[in-house]
Amino acid sequence: MNNMTVAKETRDLLSKLGVAESLYTGGNMASYTPVTGEKLADLKTVTADEAKSMIDKADAAFREWRLVPAPKRGELVRLLGEELRTAKADLGRLVSIEAGKITSEGLGEVQEMIDICDFAVGLSRQLYGLTIATERPGHRMMETWHALGVVGIISAFNFPVAVWSWNAALALVCGNSIVWKPSEKTPLTALACQAIFDKAVKRFGEAPQNLSQVLIGDRAIGEVLVDHHLVPLVSATGSTRMGRDVGPRLAKRFARAILELGGNNAGIVCPSADLDMALRAIAFGAMGTAGQRCTTLRRLFVHESVYDKLLPRLKKAYESVSIGSPLETSALVGPLIDKAAFDGMQKALAGAKEHGGKITGGDRFDAGQANAYYVRPALVEMPEQAGPVLEETFAPILYVMKYSDFDDALSDHNAVGAGLSSSIFTLDLREAERFLSADGSDCGIANVNIGTSGAEIGGAFGGEKETGGGRESGSDAWKAYMRRATNTVNYSRALPLAQGVSFDI
Ligand code: NAD
Repeated sequence: MNNMTVAKETRDLLSKLGVAESLYTGGNMASYTPVTGEKLADLKTVTADEAKSMIDKADAAFREWRLVPAPKRGELVRLLGEELRTAKADLGRLVSIEAGKITSEGLGEVQEMIDICDFAVGLSRQLYGLTIATERPGHRMMETWHALGVVGIISAFNFPVAVWSWNAALALVCGNSIVWKPSEKTPLTALACQAIFDKAVKRFGEAPQNLSQVLIGDRAIGEVLVDHHLVPLVSATGSTRMGRDVGPRLAKRFARAILELGGNNAGIVCPSADLDMALRAIAFGAMGTAGQRCTTLRRLFVHESVYDKLLPRLKKAYESVSIGSPLETSALVGPLIDKAAFDGMQKALAGAKEHGGKITGGDRFDAGQANAYYVRPALVEMPEQAGPVLEETFAPILYVMKYSDFDDALSDHNAVGAGLSSSIFTLDLREAERFLSADGSDCGIANVNIGTSGAEIGGAFGGEKETGGGRESGSDAWKAYMRRATNTVNYSRALPLAQGVSFDI
């Protein structure tokens, strides 16, 4: 496939998905595909003033939408899920073009959107609070949950559509309007999602205008969303650097934050591990999505008794993994997002070498595209956890370290800034339970005999420490998108005060 064909295919897909041509031609922001490095479109960005006015409109939409009964709001999300089912092949392909994901991962991302819509539809009939025992006779105490307002969504390039849907589906059934600032590296998939949403709205019939909007722009436009007084919650997904800026700004105006930031995820391979299973989980976790998942496996602690059995097999997997265009081949590893990602990877590998690392792979792979950045995933044997091992490098680098004592491995496992995902490979119940216990893994996600990546939508997703502490998607993550009111109703003829206080006038 030559370069012109990718741009042409992109335009065809956008048109099929219902995106108006004027939104991606003749604008001031270029978008590229990492598959070939070729320019795909020129999008028109919004100005700060336009963004502010769009947020004002979103607030007006919220004021109407919060009065629509929640199960009815769920119907809109059900229709969104239906539209996504229809669009799955095209949107998945667009994700592959814009983010460089292999076909099954592009489609998988859209499937995740469908799944969260299904979840949110059920949730729309379950937004319930508690009835609580009161100390006062003739009184009833309960809690109710109300819509919050405009929910701002800021997303990263590597999950260009799923992260929006995790937030959007929940925020919408909870009665909020949404304003989305997608990554400047993946704006076309955002336009496609908005067009798909618009189709659902059309079928729904009675939704307020501007219930969902997209702000095309860079970080400065994200900052407008973060600083706007009519946005009570911003869910921001991206690097820890971004979170360090966004978190305090939101705190300053007492707005809520859901921060989904970087990960430096690790696995422990214990003496009793099923090595066949561990090998497959490690390979997908570390090399899948070309190492560009927040949950990518980046550090591996292997017990000395199995190190020499596992390492040669792992090396073989690294040397033989298929690399290439996700659009033309069935390769398992696609491109890095851009040159900056490639440079970051090379810098980390140089640092690892300085700290005694022995590197397999890691060099640029010739996929016949001069302007695209394909790499051989890197497997780095490290004498200890030091230098770049302590930081997230958003590329396929797996640092492997040998351990002899489980407590030491656990302690090293937790000794990094990030706290997103973790896994242990063991058939020993004591090790598995310890890993999941209060003094085990300190991450938001802790798995046994499963890799670090590929979470399901039913659980709450997010991490601790420098990962930001936010939770999205399943379980009770919806509560972050609503405000809670505690109500006490007095149906007696007396006015007893709590705690036995008397105040007779
Ligand atoms: P990034 O931080 O460069 O950008 C993410 C988004 O934040 C973009 O939309 C960007 O425009 C915006 N942004 C950046 N600075 C901002 C600011 N000061 N104010 C407002 N908006 C701002 O991240 P990226 O390179 O697109 O994505 C990779 C990073 O995202 C990795 O660190 C990865 O681990 C992380 N990530 C985390 C999760 C998670 O759920 N924890 C999921 C996906 C990606």
